Amino acid sequence: MASAPTALILGAGIMGLSAAWGLARRGYAVRIVEQDAVPNPRGASVDHHRLIRHAYGAQAGYMRMVDPAYAAWDMLWRDLGEVLHIPTGVLAVSGTAQGWLGDSRATLAADGHAVTDLTAQQVASRFPIFTEAGIGAAFHMATGGVLLAERIVAGLARLLAAHGVVIERARAVDVDPARATLRLADGGERSADLLVVGAGPWAPRLLPAALAPRVVASRQVLVLLEPPPQHREAWARAPMLLDLAEDGGFYAVPPVAGTPLKIGDHRFSRTGDAEADSRDATAAEAEEILAFARPRLRDMAGYRILGARACYYDVEDGERFVIEPLSPRCLVMSGFTGHGFKFAPVLGLALAAASSDAALLGALTPWAAGQAAPAPGLLAALEGIPA
Ligand SMILES: Cc1cc2nc3c(=O)[nH]c(=O)nc-3n(C[C@H](O)[C@H](O)[C@H](O)COP(=O)(O)OP(=O)(O)OC[C@H]3O[C@@H](n4cnc5c(N)ncnc54)[C@H](O)[C@@H]3O)c2cc1C
Repeated sequence: MASAPTALILGAGIMGLSAAWGLARRGYAVRIVEQDAVPNPRGASVDHHRLIRHAYGAQAGYMRMVDPAYAAWDMLWRDLGEVLHIPTGVLAVSGTAQGWLGDSRATLAADGHAVTDLTAQQVASRFPIFTEAGIGAAFHMATGGVLLAERIVAGLARLLAAHGVVIERARAVDVDPARATLRLADGGERSADLLVVGAGPWAPRLLPAALAPRVVASRQVLVLLEPPPQHREAWARAPMLLDLAEDGGFYAVPPVAGTPLKIGDHRFSRTGDAEADSRDATAAEAEEILAFARPRLRDMAGYRILGARACYYDVEDGERFVIEPLSPRCLVMSGFTGHGFKFAPVLGLALAAASSDAALLGALTPWAAGQAAPAPGLLAALEGIPA
């Protein structure tokens, strides 16, 4: 009797775990090598939350990936036995009707997604936690929400372990794509029929020839807040806020399901080292983020700062995901920048479908880069799952 094909995965962030999920569903015997505990607070996948939304500027490819992404999450919720998504809707505001907001509105409309345009006054009256200062254009979209990231990563790791996936705590120091082999810090080696490298912001250092300088690690700062008592009820029903400006702007994640309110910005620092650097944010780093939020959050002086921390993105300049073969037996998953989490399960399922089909493998790379529709068969696992 033929034995099951084997897969070795480097990294137990959401990408490595999702690839493991997809491959295990297809009958692979899967081993994951991860240097830290899972969930890993040093990883890009782990804090309380990540956002899922259709608004994607002019990037129609990623906008169109969101419905399959929701279908893949539904499949995962079924496997996990719980739903770790809180619907909030999306409020996008900007100083101008052009740029990212205008592109999003046009791209959404072209595909028939309903958004409600709002004036600055309507923003402030419908959502009194926000001010109308400087708003030149705004829209609300009912679909979109918060993925409870840390709980998802923990739940997925437990699910995989229950299905026989081994998560080994070890540090890989070298990747040999041709032999689908990892060399470990203790001198040992691990090999499989297929190797998937999902090393997050560590990847450019580990695979410089394949990724650097196309993908770079980027230190990003976020601040956790507690709203003042008079605004807590409104925040409990608030949409995610995307407050966009010429130089990037900021986002706010509502305090859902017992999590804190989180704010961060969308400028890429393109500096730092995921391995060597502290995840503590300095007061100056936190202040840069708070300065974005101050004009937008009403009564900002009453918000309590709960903490500030840094995380690392693996930034690809065009924010395009890199899922590419490094050899016939090795795939890299990288370049997820600040928007990969929402797509992890659908990418894991697609990678698994492509793992044993050369034609699908050729179609996986441009689709993951947001530049092509999914080839027939790439999303076969989602057939029959309502989006
Ligand atoms: C603050 C923040 C906010 C974000 N917000 C959103 C959002 O709202 N919506 C969204 O869709 N996306 C968002 N993202 C992006 C998304 O979270 C990331 O793209 C995604 O989590 C990347 O997952 P990953 O598995 O590739 O990386 P990671 O989670 O970093 O996992 C990589 C793992 O590989 C391990 N590893 C690396 N090198 C080695 C080695 N040599 N040996 C052993 N193990 C190794 C690491 O320890 C790590 O655990 C955000 C990211 C951050 C940081």
